[in-house]
Amino acid sequence: MMSPRQAQFRAVYRAQIAPAYHGLIHVALIYLIGGAALWYAACQIHDATLAQWLVVPAVVVLANLFEWLLHAQVMHRPRRGLMGIYNRHTLAHHQFFTQDAPYHDTTRDYRIVFFPPYALIAFLVMAAILGSILATLWSANAGWFVVCAAACMYMNYEFFHWCCHVQDDRILRRVPFVNTIRRHHIAHHNTAIMMHRNMNLTYPFADWLFGTSDLNRGLLGHLFNGYGTRFIRGDMPKPRSGDRPTPVMAGE
Ligand SMILES: [Zn+2]
Ligand SMILES: [Zn+2]
Repeated sequence: MMSPRQAQFRAVYRAQIAPAYHGLIHVALIYLIGGAALWYAACQIHDATLAQWLVVPAVVVLANLFEWLLHAQVMHRPRRGLMGIYNRHTLAHHQFFTQDAPYHDTTRDYRIVFFPPYALIAFLVMAAILGSILATLWSANAGWFVVCAAACMYMNYEFFHWCCHVQDDRILRRVPFVNTIRRHHIAHHNTAIMMHRNMNLTYPFADWLFGTSDLNRGLLGHLFNGYGTRFIRGDMPKPRSGDRPTPVMAGE
């Protein structure tokens, strides 16, 4: 159910997308750059030790904290020099997608679903700097593992966020982690909680850690919550009809 205000925002936003824009090319570019970075970095790794492999889970956790921090403190807070990110997310993405109407219609809407490819390049540059520091202090393998894991996490983020805004959930609702983040993120699109709740976009680890989730349960329960609404905190706004993804029925 879409409000007239949201419908008007969508019409105006769509009208200003360049005619030459192609959603599938946008996505292909992201996965080409991310895939090339992953492939190149992986080719540089030789005879890795277990300790060097452990860089991967460390980067997964770091990326999760970074995604939470960026979303909570930049994408939803106007910061000098970073206003473009705030405008694009709070003032555009959250107007285009609300908890009542969170789905995109055509691949041209990918313009507002996926980040521009330069965001991935900026993220890879940050990973490369961190990797170089680690390579200098410890080992080249560890440095390349940072780049590999960062590229994977970025592509993971874009895929999961797309899963949140795609309409057909017949398969997605049964996929662990994807169903969790889908409910988590669609709830985040409720304007009443979007500034301070459900800031993770991949796995709700940092939201659990910092108490910014709309759920009241432990870490494993958070990660595998799926569409469940049983543990939603009592002080969260009550869902209206169509507000939340329909829970999977028992026996379905
Ligand atoms: Zn979103
Ligand atoms: Zn947001």
